[in-house]
Amino acid sequence: MSWDFETDDAFQAELAWIDDFVREEIEPVDRIVRDPYDVGDPVRKALIRPLQDVVKQRGLWACHLSPRLGGRGYGQLKLALMNEVLGRSICGPVVFGCQAPDSGNAEILAHFGTEDLKRRYLDPLLAGDIVSCFSMTEPQGGTDPTLFETSAVLDGDEWVVNGEKWFSSNARYAAFLIVMVVTEPDAVPHHRLSALVVPSATAGVEIVRNVGAPGEPLGEGTHAYIRYTDVRVPKDHLLGDRGQGFVVAQTRLGGGRIHHAMRTLARIRWALDTMCERALSRTTTGGERLASQQFVQQMIADSWIEIEQFRLLVLQTAWKIDRYDDYKRVRGDISAVKAAMPKVYHDVAARALQLHGSLGVSNELPFGDMVLDSFRMGLADGATEVHKVTLARQVLSRHVPTDDLFPAYHLPRVEAQARRQLAPVLAALQEDP
Ligand SMILES: Cc1cc2nc3c(=O)[nH]c(=O)nc-3n(C[C@H](O)[C@H](O)[C@H](O)COP(=O)(O)OP(=O)(O)OC[C@H]3O[C@@H](n4cnc5c(N)ncnc54)[C@H](O)[C@@H]3O)c2cc1C
Repeated sequence: MSWDFETDDAFQAELAWIDDFVREEIEPVDRIVRDPYDVGDPVRKALIRPLQDVVKQRGLWACHLSPRLGGRGYGQLKLALMNEVLGRSICGPVVFGCQAPDSGNAEILAHFGTEDLKRRYLDPLLAGDIVSCFSMTEPQGGTDPTLFETSAVLDGDEWVVNGEKWFSSNARYAAFLIVMVVTEPDAVPHHRLSALVVPSATAGVEIVRNVGAPGEPLGEGTHAYIRYTDVRVPKDHLLGDRGQGFVVAQTRLGGGRIHHAMRTLARIRWALDTMCERALSRTTTGGERLASQQFVQQMIADSWIEIEQFRLLVLQTAWKIDRYDDYKRVRGDISAVKAAMPKVYHDVAARALQLHGSLGVSNELPFGDMVLDSFRMGLADGATEVHKVTLARQVLSRHVPTDDLFPAYHLPRVEAQARRQLAPVLAALQEDP
């Protein structure tokens, strides 16, 4: 019998070290560094690089990678627990070399890149010297890949890319982009796309504009609207086989979604912590503390329950990934995590905002941004609805239909079957009451 919710002592000690390091060294940097992905920013360089060096010395750098690539080869469960701590801080993942989308892009390059691509892009990415971008969504549609039009056509020894991409995060700082391109226009939908490395400095790569979040000045954001016009890249910049773009993309999404969920969980838990401190500290009508009001108690109890339910779902999914090592088998679980995340995040952040009153809606606390962020989480890496469809299909596939007029679980049928099965006992009871 093996059923355990404990973390082993050695790893718990690492988590405790990470927790202290995040709290004491990284969280102050969060308040100063404008954008942890802006590798050219001298303030970022001065503040983040020394912290990265400490993490490297501790042997905790890029832990998601296999030891061959300099990581620790941690399974998803350990990575989930680590990300639960790192997620409290904006710069935390960058300081530990495991930030999205670079972590996933590194895995793609490691699996599918040529030696030359690895030397030019994977090595500096793993060293934290450059950042990267994953460029898939298009302006005319993100959810439905059959609508993607950006094409790559082979011309001699080069691919020629033409098209537009939308919401390519961090493209403005990225040294290279992994672009999903249509190379097999006549194939079935899931075999039309291929993944291609496009160095950002290539002629024809144009950021039409950077799209920001509400409140940011127009053109100042980090989600690029990109146009690719006759962009020529060498033939060997294709990752994986032609038409295998989705298989390549899955390499980055499985574990990545778990890490994202645990980082988000850290923010959600922080919101609950703030609610508790506020409820215990703030006096309301009649001189009582907010914490003594039943409505407030309900907010806290509901938040705690939702957080714990979500955490168990994520950790169990991480455990299944480690246990089965079979993405198809856990696809539904990962989609469940992805679909559950925005709702828990939204509900707890909204309660925290409400409980803090006017301070809660002000720009002196992050709850407004957290509520908005919950909607971002319901879109990035695929809309919630699509993940629910994936999950529902997997759940349904484990069941069989019936041709009978009444279902197998119809009580008259169940009772009749029970009576047939137990007939000898019932008969004996009647004979000998
Ligand atoms: C913060 C953030 C970062 C992102 N970063 C990147 C990035 O780095 N690279 C990249 O390529 N993309 C990125 N994206 C884009 C993201 O992948 C898309 O937003 C997502 O796939 C949805 O596509 P869309 O925005 O075009 O929405 P649409 O496809 O237009 O869908 C809009 C809405 O329609 C509904 N809907 C759509 N399809 C269905 C369906 N089948 N069933 C039921 N309802 C449906 C859903 O409510 C959905 O939210 C990012 C998005 C966000 C918010």
